[in-house]
Order: sequence, then C-alpha cells, then structure tokens
Amino acid sequence: MVIFEVQTKKTMKVIDDYNFEGKKALIRVDFNVPLDEALNVTDTSRIEAAKPTILKILEDGGSAVLMSHLGRPKGQRNDRMSLKHICEKVSEIIGVQVKFVDDCVGEKVEQAYTELQSGEMLLLENLRFYGEETNGDVAFAEKLSKFGDIYVNDAFGTAHRAHASTTIVAQFFPENKCFGYLLAKEIKAIETVMQTGEKPVTAILGGAKVSSKITIIENILDKVDHLIIGGGMTYTFVKAQGGNVGASICEEDKMGLALDILQQAEAKKVKVHLPVDVIAADDFDNNANTQMVQVNSIPDGWQGLDVGPETLKRFGEVILDSRTILWNGPVGVFEMESFAEGTISVGNYVDKATQNGAFSLVGGGDSVAAVKQFGFQDKVSYVSTGGGAMLESLEGKTLPGIAAILD
Ligand code: AMP
Repeated sequence: MVIFEVQTKKTMKVIDDYNFEGKKALIRVDFNVPLDEALNVTDTSRIEAAKPTILKILEDGGSAVLMSHLGRPKGQRNDRMSLKHICEKVSEIIGVQVKFVDDCVGEKVEQAYTELQSGEMLLLENLRFYGEETNGDVAFAEKLSKFGDIYVNDAFGTAHRAHASTTIVAQFFPENKCFGYLLAKEIKAIETVMQTGEKPVTAILGGAKVSSKITIIENILDKVDHLIIGGGMTYTFVKAQGGNVGASICEEDKMGLALDILQQAEAKKVKVHLPVDVIAADDFDNNANTQMVQVNSIPDGWQGLDVGPETLKRFGEVILDSRTILWNGPVGVFEMESFAEGTISVGNYVDKATQNGAFSLVGGGDSVAAVKQFGFQDKVSYVSTGGGAMLESLEGKTLPGIAAILD
C-alpha cells in the first residue's frame, strides 16, 4: 500500500514524539456522534476513542483545541447539529470541563484561544457549518491553523477526505504535526494485515455485492494466503461457474470479473473458499420458508441468505489455522435472526483464533455493526472506527489525511 511505502521511507510522527508542556494542540477528532430527538448522545464510543490523545496532551501540561464535524449541515448553521449538545458528555468522559465557542474561526475563537490555559480544553463549533471545510479551502484551513502550535490528527473516520481540517490544515504545520493514538493504531492495524502480519493471512469478505468489494479483492490478492467469500457476493461467483442460484442476489454483469478474480487467485496461489451449502429462503423475510441446499443448485424462486453447516465447518478450519485475519462484511443477512447464524459462527471462529494468538482486524463499511450486534468487539484484536476510510485503505488507496501528516 502506498501509505505504507511512504511510511517506511519517512518516520511516522506520533503523539509520543512530542512533549506538549506549555503548547496548544489543535486536534482533529471525530466527534460525529449519534444524537437522539432530545439531543442526547446515544453512543459515546467516538469520544472515548479520542480520550487517550487528549489526556496525553493535558497531562503533559498542554492545552487542547478540539475540532470536529457533526452530521451533514452542508455549509449552513443548524442548531440541531451544534457541538454544544455534546459538551456535557465530553467533559464527563475526559474528566475536564470543556469550554465551548459557537464558531470555529474568527474573533470569538481567537479570544478563547488566547485565554486557554495549560490543562484546559476548548471545543470549536461544527466545522461543516462552513462549506469551506468540505471544499478543502486553503484560506479556511489557514484560519484554523492559527489555533494550535502543533496539529494532531486523530480522526480516522475522515482520513479519506481531503477536507480543510483533516488534510489541508497540515501544510501550515510543516514541522509540528503528528498522528494521535487512535489514528496511529488504525494505521498499525492495517499495516499488520496488509504487510507485516504472520502467515497464514486470511481475508473473510462478505456483504452484499461484488461490485463494492472488487477493488479490495484485487488489492489483497497479493497479500493473503486464503480468501473466504460469503454473503450476497457468493452468487455472482457461483453463477459465473455455471451454478443455479435461483433468485439470489447476483450481479450478472460482474460474472466475467468474478472468473477473472478466481484465475488471478490461482495464479497467485491464493486459496479461495466459497460456500458449498446455503440456507435458501422463498422470500427476503425473516419468516420465509427455508431449506438447506447446495450452493450451485438453488431452486428457482429461492434465494441464498446465509451459509450452511458444511460451509461453516470448512470456513472454521481455515480461520482457526490463520495467524492474521481481516474480516469485512457479514456472510449472511445478519439483520434477520433466521439468517444470522453464519455470521455469528464466523465471529466465534475469529474469536477462537484470536484467543489462540492470531491478529484479527474487523472493519470497513457495515462490518462493525454486525460485530457490535453480536458482542464480538472485545473478542477481536482490533475493530476499525472508520467505515469508508478502512475500505479505501484496504483498496490500497492513499488516504489524504494520512499522507498530509507524512509529507
Ligand atoms: P456490505 O455493506 O457490502 O458489507 O453489505 C452488508 C449487507 O449485505 C448486509 O446488510 C447484509 O444483509 C447483506 N447480505 C449479506 N448476505 C446476503 C445475501 N446472501 N443476500 C442478500 N444480502 C446479503
């Protein structure tokens, strides 16, 4: 991956390389947390994830200026998306009263910044109240850059965006910019899976469509020993090989690509494991009638919605034998109880492999939702916090927010 090629040539600056005593740190955090109708924070994980970075700065004797976006206000002020609603939670979690200013640039911020003392933290208003943020406006980024001696990026979830606060602002801190703990951990986890992990390396790819995973598959074929394919993607591969998939989700225009992937895998000596039996249903419904069938002989009108027991046995053997595991995407329609068993079993195997010393990374797109729903988040080595950013990393793309720190 390009980011890691760059990384190996340049020293990756992390937060521990700095002593923040008497310094003000401008930190891009990801406080894009869900709020309920009454504007209470319903999931605090993103605030908790930023805590180690903020505490390190405050405990060094520095002060922290926190900037984030919340929702999609599209360049307009919107009271429901004001970061003032999260101040209480931030103060509670970090253990320090946060100061808030209802803007992110301009005089009010300048004054609050000047008054900021060591050990204090200041939260700026939602960056996306300004269209300049998502446009990556240089002048806006320069204004933001006035609010810190050192720039710290700790927002992996937005690292794939070349926005003013995530990327552009870094150029105003040529010598004083670094990754926060969270972002550094994400980079390390991807690096382990893609480059330095112990063999055998296994990727478990599920989800709905081949088209959304194709770039990932192509990129990881050079890096893995085993590729487990599950979920809706299965049927494009099976039909391409001449099987009957009934009414299963299938992208006929991607069948050529599927065959091409299988050929590439063979040439690269990557073992591909596709389901052999599946639970077929006569409707896309939790209460549909079901039957267990061979994956390549699904009756007309029936659709495969989860993997079967023989498949799970085979997947399990591969997973338990792996030393490094990447898991992206459910192997069935896990949102419906009747078709969640396969994804739960895969989670149990990954858990067991992790207990046996394998490194396991779960991330990208909706994978995290499945893992959280079944309580696997504490049983795998690392759960990525960035859906889109993780997908782009797995596709081998250079994330602009990461490149800007390495520059
Ligand atoms: P993705 O965001 O691409 O990882 O896709 C996740 C979605 O794939 C989930 O909402 C699953 O319900 C769906 N999915 C998994 N297996 C199947 C299947 N056999 N048929 C249809 N959808 C599926």
